[in-house]
Amino acid sequence: MIRTRFAPSPTGYMHIGNLRTALYEFLIAKSGGGKFILRIEDTDRERLVDNAVDVIYDTLKASRITHDEGPDIGGPYGPYVQSERKNDYLKYALELVEKGEAYYCFCTKERLDNLKQEVNGQTVAKYDRHCLSLSKEEIEKNLENKVPYVIRQKIREGKTTFTDEVYGSITVDNEEMEDQILIKTDGFPTYNFANVIDDHNMNITHVVRGSEYLSSTPKYNLLYEAFGWDIPTYIHLPAVMKDAHNKLSKRNGDASFQDLVAKGYLPDAIINYIALLGWAPSENKEIFTMEELIEAFDIKGLSKSPAIFDPVKLTWMNGEYIKKLPFEEFYTIAESEFKSAVKRDDIDLKKLASYVQSRIGTLKEISEKVDFVDTLPDYGPELYVHKKMKTTLEMSLENLKSVLPVLENTEEWTNDSIYSEMLKLIESMGIKNGQMFWPVRTALSGEPTSPCGASELAELLGKEDTLVRIKKGIEKLEKALS
Ligand code: GLU
Repeated sequence: MIRTRFAPSPTGYMHIGNLRTALYEFLIAKSGGGKFILRIEDTDRERLVDNAVDVIYDTLKASRITHDEGPDIGGPYGPYVQSERKNDYLKYALELVEKGEAYYCFCTKERLDNLKQEVNGQTVAKYDRHCLSLSKEEIEKNLENKVPYVIRQKIREGKTTFTDEVYGSITVDNEEMEDQILIKTDGFPTYNFANVIDDHNMNITHVVRGSEYLSSTPKYNLLYEAFGWDIPTYIHLPAVMKDAHNKLSKRNGDASFQDLVAKGYLPDAIINYIALLGWAPSENKEIFTMEELIEAFDIKGLSKSPAIFDPVKLTWMNGEYIKKLPFEEFYTIAESEFKSAVKRDDIDLKKLASYVQSRIGTLKEISEKVDFVDTLPDYGPELYVHKKMKTTLEMSLENLKSVLPVLENTEEWTNDSIYSEMLKLIESMGIKNGQMFWPVRTALSGEPTSPCGASELAELLGKEDTLVRIKKGIEKLEKALS
């Protein structure tokens, strides 16, 4: 059975690239009827951040990426939190020492620092295997005297070849690899060691992770071989880029799931968008529900060329998701945006929201779409000129002047009756609809575009404000024409 795992380090931040890894792992498992497991990799004790584990849970929950086993099953963080399994790793490392595949290293920091060399402008510090030649007695004496130690992997001679599902066949000369540390002086395993032990113990069949781990994979394979364990299928994913040369990074401000949600993107849209960041479906389609992704996902569609994160495309997709939301659901998530953008208490915010829903790419665009409600912007008279409808300043002035008394006399202040009163006037004047509606819409919104048409705006703003705004429009046009 397929078993995949998402193994985030709790950094307090869910990078879009990591979330994409989680999504692909989930999709690989689910599309093959397998299991998706969550593992918290917290062995780097210096980098622990408060609440960071919650960020992982909250993101996965909001993204509908549900794990099958693990942290919240069987204990606070369950059996799959690495820091809780510290002693297990030591046991495995000692097994390798026993087999001659690993060794104790007592080198001091000073000694290791002295090994550093400048090669082509880069600092390289390949371990010189000093402790590999220690005698049994020396090792025992050091251990007795509690000399701090690490345990290192003894890299065997030869070449290591493996196949990655995305990058193909890769061969590395073992000489290029360092005798990496497996157990640190604090007794915790390194990521490099723990991931192998855990993936084996958790029966992981497919390892999906960022391509930055590709170069370490041969070392992991040597560990699998040293233990005599099966090597999993590898799927390394290229980085998510900001542009052709730069990775999408924290500094860009929109690299994490949390950044995007704060910018008004919906989790479902983010997931749909990132599914396509490096994976091409076989059919020509872009909008996918999670169920459809599970149905359509195939490792063959993964690309090894880095994907560029395109906020414009994401905004488009998000707009599609916003449009499709049932209105009540949209209003629930958008209400606070409307409330903070419109302070007037006589406005039917729900009605306003119903006009805005299909016209935004993100929830954060709401305020700019509705800020004309509280205060009429100081617009220029040129807004009245609409080429297609052939409206001019003169015509707009004339039409506003004739609509004013009609609106003053409109008793029933509803969209329908305002609309039909205006229509009657249009007919009696023998003008085109737009030649009346455009100037009224402009006078009421003071914007080149508005979330709804003239009669809806009038109903929304109320009779009093409508008349005030139309009078202002008349004044503005008279001034411009004088
Ligand atoms: N803890 C690693 C990270 O967050 C996981 C790498 C892996 O999936 O093996 O990058």
